[in-house]
Amino acid sequence: MNSHGNQSEAAGSTPPLAVFCDFDGTFSVQDVGSTLARRHGGHRRPAAWARYEKGEITAWEYNMEILDRLPVSEDELEAFLRTVELDPGARDLVDWCERYGVPFRILSDGFDYNLDRLQEINDVRFAYDANRLRYEGGVWRIDVGSPDPMCSCGTGTCKRARIAEFRRGNAGAKIVHVGNGRVSDLCGALEADVAFAKGTLAETLDQRGEPFERFDTLFDVIRKLEEWV
Ligand SMILES: [Zn+2]
Repeated sequence: MNSHGNQSEAAGSTPPLAVFCDFDGTFSVQDVGSTLARRHGGHRRPAAWARYEKGEITAWEYNMEILDRLPVSEDELEAFLRTVELDPGARDLVDWCERYGVPFRILSDGFDYNLDRLQEINDVRFAYDANRLRYEGGVWRIDVGSPDPMCSCGTGTCKRARIAEFRRGNAGAKIVHVGNGRVSDLCGALEADVAFAKGTLAETLDQRGEPFERFDTLFDVIRKLEEWV
């Protein structure tokens, strides 16, 4: 990971700064997938998690075991999504990026269906990459968004690959990743120029001796970005 925190960069056709932000537990307070998994597929979780920890299944295979065919009706899901709170600085971060012409994108190992509904419910708009969810006979059917078999994350939406693709078209942009979880955020955090981290992502980056910016709410992120524009 490169850190260019003290470098000032002139505005050009390539944006000087771009922000990639995790959704569950970062842009939102609750983690949609794991909360529903706990409620509706709880009995399957310990065994599947043990297999994931031993490296027998990938993060995406873990998702398939727990979330595919999850019996949560559309009404139940809607009721739950209406209880999901956004980080207190979430809207401000989106607004801030728009004001300064800074590309902002949610990178989520969650699902398009939920992100679409959460945007409507909360009246906030963002571009995103995520996995796919549709209903079939009243149960969830899930599919990967953009996996990268070459990446060790094993997730359905590899954040490292999404950031690397943006970098190819925007050489010189300082790329920021914001996240909280070691499973889906680590590869994105390492690929970014600056990683904002909390939770298990911060613990993991700390253990690996990787530099990162610690944050509590997205207001902390905005304050730091202010220094760079
Ligand atoms: Zn990855």
